[in-house]
Amino acid sequence: MSWESNVRKVVPYVPGEQPKVTNIIKLNTNENPYPPAPGVAEAMKAYVKRSEELRLYPSPTVENLVKDLAEYYKLQEDQIFVGVGSDDVLATAFLTFFNSKSPVLFPDITYSFYEVWAQLYDIPYVKKPLNEDFRIIKEDYLGVNGGIVITNPNAPTGIAESREWVEDIIRANKDSVVIVDEAYVDFGGESCLPLIDKYDNVLVVHTFSKSRSLAGLRVGVGMGSKKLIQYLNDVKFSINSYTINRPTLEYASLSLKDENYFRTCVDKICATRAWTMEELRKLGFVMTDSKTNFLFAKHKEVPAEELFELLKTKGIYVRYFKAPRINEYLRITVGTQNEMETLVNVLGDYLCKS
Ligand code: PMP
Repeated sequence: MSWESNVRKVVPYVPGEQPKVTNIIKLNTNENPYPPAPGVAEAMKAYVKRSEELRLYPSPTVENLVKDLAEYYKLQEDQIFVGVGSDDVLATAFLTFFNSKSPVLFPDITYSFYEVWAQLYDIPYVKKPLNEDFRIIKEDYLGVNGGIVITNPNAPTGIAESREWVEDIIRANKDSVVIVDEAYVDFGGESCLPLIDKYDNVLVVHTFSKSRSLAGLRVGVGMGSKKLIQYLNDVKFSINSYTINRPTLEYASLSLKDENYFRTCVDKICATRAWTMEELRKLGFVMTDSKTNFLFAKHKEVPAEELFELLKTKGIYVRYFKAPRINEYLRITVGTQNEMETLVNVLGDYLCKS
């Protein structure tokens, strides 16, 4: 028998393209088009003088960042877990909480990394189809299961459900852990964070990658009951104690302290989203009611793949999923107003000619 028969084989998640060229309009990975809070850049410059500190390990318990997060979210410090992006928080949560013979449930159209972690960790799972309007069918999540993952707002559909709606699922599932992935919640969703004091089996996951413009820093946050967070930390400390590097701990805290800047960026993105939706509708697109920093749009006549290729030749990168049910759609990150005006002009020129 070859060693390869013992390899833990998995089909990996495919992240959006990160092109090497810089003169493009990058609307394909839901990054924020605005820079991080100005305090972050200042701290980075100042850190150079302290680079000698990098010979020391960072804090394994990341207590300063946890303290700032607790203050920001009005939680206890022991209700907070920090990871290397929310991918790390989610992967650790899958490993920690999903250890049942019953399947973990999540929608068929959602963040495609869930399926990859389930396969990697050998977790049984069932994908529950969204309805015709791309809405999650609540009743699908009320039976026996080994855990539940709800992305709210969902991706790549952009559709948000109310907290009350998610609570119905949580209330019916007190015997398994319910993960609520709120990567995009700051752009118009309703957070389930208030529910973590009411239910000890709910993990709400946030990220610094979208609304805080810090995808490159890699910081994610899991929030839940003290017991849930303790279990997550037990697993984290069994893999890698030092996940967040020293400077990142400081930069992430500084981002939290500039609420004004944060709100301004989020508001700008929401205003540009509304403008873009209106313009795309005029060009014959239909789209979901996105509460995120991306649009999920299809043209009434022209195939999505054709538009995806066209935009690429014009230096505009959007995301196209060659997957059943969603292959007629483009996922378009909301960039700056200027970037979206260019996108609308390019599409307008093409669609009016064809
Ligand atoms: N959840 C969802 C729904 C996402 O779209 C993403 C971004 N790809 C993530 C989690 C992970 O983001 P990050 O690791 O950058 O926090």
